[in-house]
This record gives sequence, structure tokens and C-alpha cells, in this order.
Amino acid sequence: MKGACFCGAVSYEVTGDPTLRAFCHCTLCQRLTGSPFIHTVHFPSSAFSWTHGAPHEDRLDAYAVASKPHKTRWRCKTCGACVMSANAKTGSCSVWGAHLARDDAGKIIDWDRVKPTAHMFYGTRMLDVDDSLAKWEGYENGSARLDL
Ligand SMILES: [Zn+2]
Ligand SMILES: [Zn+2]
Repeated sequence: MKGACFCGAVSYEVTGDPTLRAFCHCTLCQRLTGSPFIHTVHFPSSAFSWTHGAPHEDRLDAYAVASKPHKTRWRCKTCGACVMSANAKTGSCSVWGAHLARDDAGKIIDWDRVKPTAHMFYGTRMLDVDDSLAKWEGYENGSARLDL
């Protein structure tokens, strides 16, 4: 699947199936994006590659928050959109569903492959979501389930 930042200067491709796809209500995602929750999709880092012109780093800024030094977040130097984070500890990376390529109707292409299966870090939610997906305190299948 292909994705790009807000302005299009930075683009990427991910291959294969995600290892996790969920709505994340954690406080880091909230503060980073200014949104109550975001749609995150995790892949093995080996499945990810930049597709804009090389050297790829010329168009990117990298940074890490003090509480998670093993996690590098990459954002577009031009528009500031954070398009990918790579976790050196787990060997995985995350992209945001909203950046994935759309069809002419504005729908994400191959939606069924990345469609969220859960709400995670729901304990710090800013709003209740009344849908049929499971709600987890932390990671899906790795924390207490809140909707039972
Ligand atoms: Zn951009
Ligand atoms: Zn999060």
C-alpha cells in the first residue's frame, strides 16, 4: 500500500499484511496529532520503504520523545505531517491510516486490509465511541479489555 504526507513531498510504501491495526487513544498520539484518537497500522520495519526521491532523509525530520528513545518519529520537513514511526526495540513501524492512498471517491484503497479491529489505550479516551470494536486499556490482546 502507498502513503504520503499532507503535501506529498514525502511518500512511502508498505507491503504485506499489518501486524496491528487499531484506533489509538493514547496521550502521545493525542498530543502529537491534536486529535482525540488516530488510526494506526503497524508493520514489520522490513515491510516499509520510502518512495520519494533519494536521499530520503533530505525531506524528513526525525525525533524521539524522552520517554520512548527507541522510537523514532519521522515527519515531513515541508508540511510537518508525522508519517511514520520506527520502533528499534520491536522491529516494527507504524503508519497512520489517514495518510494511505485514496481512490477517486476519497476512500482508502484496500481498506479491508488496514481496517481497525480494536480501540486501544481507551482508558485515556477523550470521547466514548459507540461501535462494535473491542476496547482495551492498553494494546489489543495485551491489556485489560474494557467493554466486557
Ligand atoms: Zn509534507
Ligand atoms: Zn497512540
